[in-house]
Formats: sequence, structure tokens, C-alpha cells
Amino acid sequence: MAYDFDLYVIGAGSGGVRAARFAAGFGAKVAVAESRYLGGTCVNVGCVPKKLLVYGAHFAEDFEQASGFGWSLDEAQFDWATLIANKDREINRLNGIYRNLLVNSGVTLHEGHAKIVDPHQVEINGERFTARNILIATGGWPQIPEIPGHEHAISSNQAFFLKELPKRVLVVGGGYIAVEFAGIFHGLGAETTLLYRGELFLRGFDGSVRKHLQEELTKRGMNLQFNADIERIDKQADGSLKVTLKDGRQLETDCVFYATGRRPMLDNLGLENTGVKLDKKGFVEVDELYQTAEPSILALGDVIGRVQLTPVALAEGMAVARRLFKPEQYRAVDYKMIPTAVFSLPNIGTVGLTEEEAREAGHDVQIFESRFRPMKLTLTECQERTLMKLVVDAKTDKVLGCHMVGPEAGEIVQGLAIALKAGATKRDFDETIGVHPTAAEEFVTMRTPVAG
Ligand code: FAD
Ligand code: NDP
Repeated sequence: MAYDFDLYVIGAGSGGVRAARFAAGFGAKVAVAESRYLGGTCVNVGCVPKKLLVYGAHFAEDFEQASGFGWSLDEAQFDWATLIANKDREINRLNGIYRNLLVNSGVTLHEGHAKIVDPHQVEINGERFTARNILIATGGWPQIPEIPGHEHAISSNQAFFLKELPKRVLVVGGGYIAVEFAGIFHGLGAETTLLYRGELFLRGFDGSVRKHLQEELTKRGMNLQFNADIERIDKQADGSLKVTLKDGRQLETDCVFYATGRRPMLDNLGLENTGVKLDKKGFVEVDELYQTAEPSILALGDVIGRVQLTPVALAEGMAVARRLFKPEQYRAVDYKMIPTAVFSLPNIGTVGLTEEEAREAGHDVQIFESRFRPMKLTLTECQERTLMKLVVDAKTDKVLGCHMVGPEAGEIVQGLAIALKAGATKRDFDETIGVHPTAAEEFVTMRTPVAG
């Protein structure tokens, strides 16, 4: 049977665009549908605008520290509306770039909500198109627990478009988004509380990193409330919000921001017209080749709920395009040693195993750790400390994990990730000459283990 397209991609986010462009580049006839915004979550309500807001929030510290270097500034003023307007302009520019990328690579762009009507057919804007393969790359959506008054809470989707910076913000959650946005709000001047249901936030990160960030955020004056959960939210006559916790305490705030994970975006996608199966958490189930239970349908990115990061969605998009249309170049995505950063203030950068994971996996570990006040701060009042940590296998000398909390941790860990991927040993680290004077050189000068 002749199909309208070889590949019909639903979702022009990180993974969908990558798969569509590369598939078209390999000679396939490709269409991509997008219902909301070109570039998806990352470009519109994720990585990019988030990082711009983090940069904005960081200026507060820069201004404070500048006086130690002889600069005097009149009292710094911040205008939220300017930051948001400039951010919006930049995102608009990026949307245009994504449009050009798609069109110039020969992909047909359909703007609207796509619904799968049968395993080889998609309906969009009242028209139907057939395809040999359909790729579900519809991403995720914030998930707010349905507690009484949840309608008064916002998620990251709204936070990027607030008309004003709230005076007081209560951030709920202990993952990436909660920690990053707490840093943004706090840095920009809002009285910020971070509320997390467990003992200590950032579950899954190295224990030293979690503890260190807790100490640094506390030093900065952020209100951290752990072992706390919300029972209900009530709007008061003056517009403020009264938050009742499960332990009976009450807090007052102007904005409750939930960052409690993301669900797969499958709304009105028509999966009931296919044999596609979902996993226990509701994400689309795929095999190692991103194949769903329906032979003609594939899925990748956040909607499969493996690793919800843009570079992972990109790698999966590339893998799918190659497997379908350039099989001789196919390479499976390697999910080991994925480096990642949390753009909290200060940043976290991490790659490889945490100390806890290494011990659990049976490694005989050696731990190297360094905590220091960065050189840049020595002329300032700021007491922030940087943490660097190496997890090493004592038997093989292989570096199993690198973890950092401090300025530019993400930038530094990207380079270390290459070393770890190449199987670097602690000896390789020791024999690498440092770049002086930098914070990063500490990673190659740690000589004495702190724990074994
Ligand atoms: P998405 O980028 O979500 O794209 C899916 C697209 O599909 C969307 O554009 C959507 O509108 C469209 N769509 C959905 N349903 C339909 C339909 N039926 N028809 C047509 N179109 C449809 N990752 C990082 O690596 N670094 C970061 O710093 C980072 N920061 C983040 C900050 C925030 C606040 C958030 C929310 C996420 C962040 N992420 C970050 C995660 C990253 O954004 C995602 O992992 C990535 O965007 C996933 O790409 P995707 O292609 O799977 O889905
Ligand atoms: P995460 O999964 O990272 O964190 C969710 C947090 O919410 C956890 O602390 C979790 O607690 C808590 N939680 C979950 N359900 C509830 C509930 N019902 N009540 C109270 N607390 C709850 O999700 P995020 O929303 O922060 O981010 C989604 C994903 O997006 C991330 O996992 C990451 O992959 C990606 N991302 C990446 C970024 C980056 O690379 N810098 C930045 C932002 C997002 P518990 O730990 O106890 O389960």
C-alpha cells in the first residue's frame, strides 16, 4: 500500500524534531504535527526559559559580591516584566528557528492536534493522513495532586508567564523543577519556602550533594520545610493563599507552585484505536528499539518515561531515524553515564554512580571529597562553599561517579562525563594537569580518600 508519509511524527519537541529532521535527511517522506509550540517543552516552558530565569536570578549575587572588587552600585532594581518580555522574545526567535529547521529539511509541518485513528492513520485539522510508521513524541505535562484547592496552585507552565513576581512563594516538591524554581524565586527577591514530603530533597542524587545543597540554601535564607505535605489550599479574601499542612500547621503565601513530577501527554491521542500498551506508571511501553506493542507505532522522549532530559530525547530521536531509514548507521542509546545538571543556585553537576548506588552495586568504593570557598568569593562576604566528590572503585581504580555543587557545575561535569565514558581511572585523573587557577582543577588534585 502507498502511504502519504513514511513517518508521521506527533509532537515537535526535542525528540520529535530530531527524529523528523534526520529521517527526512535520510530521504524519508516525513510529516510532523504540533498542537502547541514548536520546539516543545524544552524550548517553550522548560530548559531554555528556565535557564534564562536562572541567569536573571544569579545577578542578585553578582551585585552583592561586586562591592568586594571595588564596585559600588546604587541599590539594584529588578523588573520581572522586563525579564519575562525579553525571555518571550527569545523564545519566539527560537520557535522561528525550529520552523525553518523543519521546513528546510523537507519535513511537512502540520499545526494542530493530531489523533491516531488507526495504526497507520492520523487525523489533524479534519484531514486524514496515512503513514507506514507513526512516532509518538508528545512529551509530558505537570502533575499536581488533586488536593482540595489544587486549582489555586500553579505549575512550571504558568510560572513562566506570571504577570508579577509574587512576594511570597511556596514551592512544593523536591526534584529538579522544585529546586530550580525555588532558586529563581529566591534569587529574584521573593520570600521563598521549599516544601518537600521526604527527609531530604533530590532523592536519587548523591547524599553529600543533597546535604550540601540543603546547607547552602539554608545559608542563603531559603526556608526549607522537609517531612511536610499539603492537605489543602484556601484562597483568602485578600487574594493570598492559606495552606494547611497534613501535620496541622498553616502557612500563608501568595503563590503555591507545584513541581511534583510530570505525566505522559496522551490526551485525546487516540491510543484506544491502536494496540499500544502503557506501563504501570501510565507511560507508553516500548522495547529497546522504541517499538510499542503496535508494530507500526513507535514512541520516544518523555512520553516513554525513561530519562526525562532533552539530550536523551534527542539521542532517542536520532536512534529511531537511523533504525528506520539508515539501519547501517544505527547505534543503541547508551543510558549509562548520562551527565546532568540541576540549575539550582548553586548548581549541581553529576555523572555516573552516586556513593550509595556504587555501594549497593557491590563496589568496594573509595571516596574523595573536597569542600572549599571558591577563589572568586575570597574578596567578598559570601560564605558559599563548593563541593566536589569522586566515587572510585578501589579494586579497578575506575572513577564511577563525579558530583559537584558549585558555580558552573554543569559546565564542568560535561567534560568529566567524556572521561568517565572512556573509562578513566583515578590515576588518569591524578596524571591530568590542572588548569590553574580554576575550581575545576580540584577534580584532578584530590589525593587522600575521605572514606573507603
Ligand atoms: P516535548 O519537548 O514535551 O515535546 C512534545 C510536543 O508534543 C509538545 O510540543 C506538545 O505540544 C506536542 N504534542 C503533544 N500532544 C500532541 C498532539 N496530540 N498533537 C500534536 N502535538 C502534540 N531537560 C534538560 O535536559 N535540561 C534542563 O535544563 C531541563 N529543564 C527543564 C525545565 C522544566 C521546567 C521542564 C518542564 C523540563 C525540563 N527539562 C530539561 C526536560 C525536557 O524539557 C524534556 O525532557 C524534553 O523536552 C522532552 O522532549 P520530548 O520530545 O519528549 O517532549
Ligand atoms: P521529579 O520527578 O524530578 O521530582 C518530583 C518531586 O515531587 C519529587 O521530589 C517527589 O518526591 C515529589 N512528589 C511527587 N509526587 C508528589 C506528591 N503527590 N506530593 C508531594 N510531592 C510529590 O519531577 P520534576 O517535576 O521536578 O521534573 C520532571 C522531570 O523533568 C525531571 O525528573 C527531569 O528529568 C526533568 N527536568 C530536568 C531538568 C534539568 O535537567 N536541569 C530541570 C527540570 C526538569 P519523592 O522524591 O519523594 O518521590
